[in-house]
Amino acid sequence: MTKSAIVIGGGIIGLTTCFEFQEAGFQVTLIDPDPISGATHHAGGMLAPTAEVQYQQQDLIQLMKESARLYPDLLERVSKYTDLPTGYRTEGTLLVGADRTDGLHVAELIKYMHLMDLPVDFLTTRQARSAEPALSPRISKVVNIDGDHQVAPRLYARALLDAILQRGAEHIADTVISIDGHDPCLTVTMGSGVRVASKSVVVLAAGLGAARIPGWFEGANPLQLRPVYGDIIRVRVPEKLQPMVSKVIRGFVEDRQVYIIPRDDGTLAIGATSREDHPHPKTGSVYDLLRDATRLVPGIEETEFLEVTCGARPGTPDDIPYLGWVGSNVIVSTGYFRHGILLAALGARAAVDLATKKPVFPTLDVCDPFRHRT
Ligand SMILES: Cc1cc2nc3c(=O)[nH]c(=O)nc-3n(C[C@H](O)[C@H](O)[C@H](O)COP(=O)(O)OP(=O)(O)OC[C@H]3O[C@@H](n4cnc5c(N)ncnc54)[C@H](O)[C@@H]3O)c2cc1C
Repeated sequence: MTKSAIVIGGGIIGLTTCFEFQEAGFQVTLIDPDPISGATHHAGGMLAPTAEVQYQQQDLIQLMKESARLYPDLLERVSKYTDLPTGYRTEGTLLVGADRTDGLHVAELIKYMHLMDLPVDFLTTRQARSAEPALSPRISKVVNIDGDHQVAPRLYARALLDAILQRGAEHIADTVISIDGHDPCLTVTMGSGVRVASKSVVVLAAGLGAARIPGWFEGANPLQLRPVYGDIIRVRVPEKLQPMVSKVIRGFVEDRQVYIIPRDDGTLAIGATSREDHPHPKTGSVYDLLRDATRLVPGIEETEFLEVTCGARPGTPDDIPYLGWVGSNVIVSTGYFRHGILLAALGARAAVDLATKKPVFPTLDVCDPFRHRT
């Protein structure tokens, strides 16, 4: 009998999960009223376990490192089923401190990166500017991070959707409002009233929406997700100035963070702010991003402004995802916060390993979906 999986949510996590279930021989159904409309649509797309390192988050760092390791193979397999581009680029990342205090901040971070066994190379300003001539001469410290890569999330997610549909996935454009019944015979009910009775594996990968599903098969929904909003800007580099930069430039400017991501189509993504109120692009934040990005790469003043959007990252209380069984055939995979594009490779593979009873690496104890149940 063909094994089957129902995946709720068509952001980067749900789509990658659909793909990996197909790779494992499952027939897949994706339920989402509007795939790629959540955080994935807004994301920068950095696959950056080193530059995104966070103090006191050793467990998360292990997940990020493993997911980065899985990405090249995943992208190669996806490209067998679609001709659509992914925006995958491997030029690497420069981490820059603007003034002296920012330089000290970068130096501290580098010590921690070394401690976490994350490789970086020191560059002089002259070396950095010969690699990226558009970089301002007024910078205090630079390191090169070869292993931090990027995809263009909107392109890559569309490529994933195309790949899974080409392989025969069914897409139901509807919203799930409850998962109930008696474990293991569950019913997934949608807004239109349609119900799918399921002995399949169900993966709840609906981003922030996972915590809003009121009907929950055993007691209250245990997920504590909060939106963490971020503004991101897109500009186009004039033909004569292309490519403005080739690597991702990440910087600290007066202690604020900013990044500049070059895309294959001659645009730059400039991001991203982080706040828990104000769900729309905030004028002051957009001003900060443009000023700080221009401080690192002055030529950005010459670009054409295209758009600013604001997305909501699905944050958990400890910034670690929810990934694991919540019933005998329901897996939760959400709460990927700032790292969902990077962690998608690991999250998807782990969901399949759980479903097929294979050992999961790294172990997912820290990701227990019930750990914040009240
Ligand atoms: C500005 C910004 C920049 C970022 N940059 C990066 C980056 O550089 N690198 C990185 O790794 N991460 C980055 N992130 C984080 C990353 O975008 C998220 O962690 C990731 O997109 C989460 O993916 P997801 O699939 O869980 O959720 P989403 O992308 O939000 O997708 C959830 C999907 O579920 C669907 N859904 C919701 N409720 C239901 C329901 N009841 N029934 C059916 N479907 C439902 C929605 O329609 C949506 O399509 C960034 C985020 C933001 C906002």
